[in-house]
Amino acid sequence: MRVSAYPLIDADVAASLVLEHTPVLGAERVPLVDCPGRVLAEDVVASAALPAFPASAVDGYAVRAADGGTSLRVVGESAAGRPFDGRVEPGTAIRILTGGVLPAGADCVVMMEDVQLSGDVVTVPVGLKPGQNFHAPGADLREGERVLPAGVALGAAELGLAAALGLAELPVGRRPRVALLSTGDELVEVGEKPARGQIPDSNRWALLAALLEAGSEVRLLGIGPDEPEALRRLVVDALSGADVLVTSGGVSVGTHDLIKPLLESLGDVLVGRVKLKPGKPFTFATIPDPRPPTRPFGPTSPLRGREKLAFGLPGFPVSSLVTFEVFVRPALRKMQGHAQLQRPTLPVRLGYDARATADRTEYQRVTLRREGLELVAASTGSQSSSRLVSLVGAHALVRIPPGDQGIRAGTIVEAMILALP
Ligand code: AMP
Ligand code: MG
Repeated sequence: MRVSAYPLIDADVAASLVLEHTPVLGAERVPLVDCPGRVLAEDVVASAALPAFPASAVDGYAVRAADGGTSLRVVGESAAGRPFDGRVEPGTAIRILTGGVLPAGADCVVMMEDVQLSGDVVTVPVGLKPGQNFHAPGADLREGERVLPAGVALGAAELGLAAALGLAELPVGRRPRVALLSTGDELVEVGEKPARGQIPDSNRWALLAALLEAGSEVRLLGIGPDEPEALRRLVVDALSGADVLVTSGGVSVGTHDLIKPLLESLGDVLVGRVKLKPGKPFTFATIPDPRPPTRPFGPTSPLRGREKLAFGLPGFPVSSLVTFEVFVRPALRKMQGHAQLQRPTLPVRLGYDARATADRTEYQRVTLRREGLELVAASTGSQSSSRLVSLVGAHALVRIPPGDQGIRAGTIVEAMILALP
């Protein structure tokens, strides 16, 4: 098939096509130590109330509120982890420390600072209220409450909560295994001195960072040559151990652009060109798993080897990262079971006149600054697809629809947030 025969697809249509063909990889149970950054695969329901027992919120004395304004005999102590087994009878108190169990009979805690102590007699103020200064059982969480929904990213608070509920391991989405390949005879390893006409393979490192941020396990394949057979061997070998192949370079229309025909020979090229700037030659293909099914259950069995995804990203550094953001990152998140596939968006006021491209949606890189309650977007300068500096420090991508209108300075637009200022 001639490369130019690929239809130019609308950027949103292409993004939906990619997600439609992206599988969710399934779950595995992993210990808490391996959970940070993973995605919860099933709802977590509280199997017990939190706190499980009435726990003092302060250091002080556990008493009966009815004994307010009197002097009480201190008959024991309840420290964290060392409860007092007796009962607080009228006219008595026990010393209690933060986290200690409120003993039977007591209905409130008086803070250390609010009492007068003389020997083993403590005088407490008037006006005590039952319930004060301790956490009642279930006050934080009731038994049976859904505390974490499937699809949530496991960060600090989520892991702390799971641990507080006594869960030593959690079901999480499997990480996609991604094989990453740079292509082009002009590329040299970073650190080697480029000869005339050569450049360092910078995309590998940019995409590695992007892939890791998106939760992937990455296998670096290095640099592939502009030679069909060698490239084919590299790709076929890499695919056997990967869920996803990501390449950069070799997708534009030219004699040395070998990725589209290669993917065409291995599977189905579903996207070959998009109405997107930067990133017009973005290519997406599905590739059947060459391994035999694990059990002979027929072609529709879920146990059959699933399709692999291949993303052919353009070689220009900005194009490869912008197409990664628009197409690859949401797919990698879907594979892991994330509920939130897209970057968050915020309304921002455009601080410059954004000119449109006739037939392509353009993602412009901007920095944001606060002006009162608003965020104002400034262009990062020349938006050339080779100028990686336009992405360094960018806070957001602003989408400029195709046409001859553009967007005037002062207009409010939705910005895809990469980082907040
Ligand atoms: P291509 O898509 O292969 O036609 O490449 C388009 C442009 O991106 C060319 O100027 C390439 O030299 C450049 N390029 C391709 N691959 C890389 C890479 N891995 N790192 C940096 N620049 C690259
Ligand atoms: Mg090339």
